[in-house]
Amino acid sequence: MGNGKITVVGAGNVGATTAHIAASRKLGDIVLIDIVKGLAEGKALDMAEAGPVQGYSCKITGTTDPGFASGSAEASWAQAQDSRIVVITSGLARKPGMSRDDLLAKNVQIVKEVSEKVAKYCPQAIVIVVSNPLDAMVYVASKVTGFAKNRVMGMAGALDVARFCHFVATELNVSSEDIRGILMGGHGDDMVPLPRFTTVAGIPITELLPKETIARLIERARKGGIEIVDLLGSSAYYAPAAGVVKMAEAIITDSRGVIPCCAYCQKEYNVGGYFVGVPAVLGKNGVDKIVELKLNAEERAEFDTSVSHVKDLVAKVDKLL
Ligand code: NAD
Repeated sequence: MGNGKITVVGAGNVGATTAHIAASRKLGDIVLIDIVKGLAEGKALDMAEAGPVQGYSCKITGTTDPGFASGSAEASWAQAQDSRIVVITSGLARKPGMSRDDLLAKNVQIVKEVSEKVAKYCPQAIVIVVSNPLDAMVYVASKVTGFAKNRVMGMAGALDVARFCHFVATELNVSSEDIRGILMGGHGDDMVPLPRFTTVAGIPITELLPKETIARLIERARKGGIEIVDLLGSSAYYAPAAGVVKMAEAIITDSRGVIPCCAYCQKEYNVGGYFVGVPAVLGKNGVDKIVELKLNAEERAEFDTSVSHVKDLVAKVDKLL
């Protein structure tokens, strides 16, 4: 069906939810891969059986990668061939008391192994990384696949800004559909929501809310991930999966949507060759353009702090790869 075939690696909470939302959006056929025997097959079949009720009929295939030691991933990964997009959600997720950075060593190995498979079986695909710590994992996927930088990106900003917009809508008691926001920096507690560029039906929230209220909502957005972890005991997945599908849809439909995502910046914002959260135009080639905003001194300082954290993580990754 269509040319929007999506392979989702990791059939856990984020991966399965991504597959289900993508099926509901009728973007194309879906392949779900996991290393746990039967998990991807079971969830794929369950999702396919929801098709007649929900009104989608794309092909949804689940397959088990029997593990890297066995060297027999061929059969499962052959299903992924010709994917337009590969979403990498495989990896450990946070438990209460953990930071995203605590996942680094284990997830570097998982994302590295998966990226090798992506390069081999899906050499034309566009890669959206979700595994944490996000900005570092995007770097791993880029380095290991060797794909052009515009074809590798990470999902975080779409989620983080959605959280911020939800909090703004609740505070103002208006429809969240009327809120647009921009958020920059790494996917950590030092992410940078930008109130000057967050609007309600075109009105900046700086005109609508007092400074202290905005500061409180920013703080809640920054801690939005851990708020869910503390409630659920595991990390969020409905909003993260919605963020992934929003990005995938912009690419598959070539809509050129402007979405905050983790994209490669060289001279943009003087980042100097790292993947960090920035507003980007997404279309058929992946990241088509980074939108460069004129940041004021305070915003610039917060962005630089967040980027320096990403640079530290990348230095740690280089020692692990
Ligand atoms: P989960 O534990 O529910 O699912 C992860 C799945 O990956 C498991 O089913 C596991 O078996 C599978 N897996 C592990 N190694 C694999 C491999 N080599 N190949 C295929 N599958 C493999 O976790 P989750 O809640 O879905 O989270 C997944 C990742 O996404 C975590 O690292 C989490 O921190 C991250 N995350 C990121 C964001 C974001 O905004 N970027 C948001 C939420 C979660």
